[in-house]
Amino acid sequence: MTRRRAGAGEVARRGGAGTTRRPPTGRARIALALLGIVAAAVACVPPAGAPPVRDAATHRARRHALVDAIAAAGVRDSATLAAMRAVPRHEFVLPQDRALAYEDHALPIAEGQTISQPTLVAFMTATVRPRPGLKVLEIGTGSGYQAAVLAATGCRVYSIEIIGALADSARARLGRLGVRGVAVRHGDGYLGWPEAAPFEAILLTAAPDSMPAALVEQLAPGGRMVAPVGLEHEVQSLMLIEKDAAGRVRRQPLLPVRFVPMRRGVR
Ligand code: SAH
Repeated sequence: MTRRRAGAGEVARRGGAGTTRRPPTGRARIALALLGIVAAAVACVPPAGAPPVRDAATHRARRHALVDAIAAAGVRDSATLAAMRAVPRHEFVLPQDRALAYEDHALPIAEGQTISQPTLVAFMTATVRPRPGLKVLEIGTGSGYQAAVLAATGCRVYSIEIIGALADSARARLGRLGVRGVAVRHGDGYLGWPEAAPFEAILLTAAPDSMPAALVEQLAPGGRMVAPVGLEHEVQSLMLIEKDAAGRVRRQPLLPVRFVPMRRGVR
């Protein structure tokens, strides 16, 4: 048995609640391509007991093949793709899952949480248009992988994690891997990080059932926020929130997704 926990931090299959049925736009074409990758990746999950992949060169080759597939699916932002090629995802998954690190799946991490599907990490990163110096707030540090991808594009990352053990281990992992430019806080993401606000980009990697007002407030004019919104166990909608120079907010759904829920109450 693989230890994959299906359905959290992944593009949702079509047909579930919340799925849009509009004619394919450019973005919808990417969504369909992403779904194609999901299907292909599911089909090539190695059989139970596949030998662990330890060799660095093998990891790199598999990572590059995965990023080639992500690019072919329609994620074009070159900074995002370069970051996805650079960050060793196998260092962020559980040791027993390293052989699965470059399959396009969400995987379990500690405390019943998940590291998101690589395609979705790439899509969300590209959506906020990362660039050196961009000030980004991430809600849901988890393993630290999404934060490391943002940092590899040169973003200055502020990441909040509600589970203390995960905040500590992500901070330690990022330090061990030499990732610079990420500040991890143990706290409740619903409150955001007011002392560091405003942020030019905000990413949520856990799903609230409605958009947290404090986070929209902490988005800078001209900023972009990407967030899965919806109920646990249902298909959620990955939303893009844009704030214009005058502070007006525009929201649009991008993709049907499934994420772990955003929780209340710091642990
Ligand atoms: N971005 C992570 C994946 C995160 S999974 C990665 O790359 O590995 C979602 C994470 O959100 C979990 O670790 C969960 O504990 C955290 N979380 C849930 N509710 C939260 C909240 N209110 N504030 C901050 N983090 C929260």
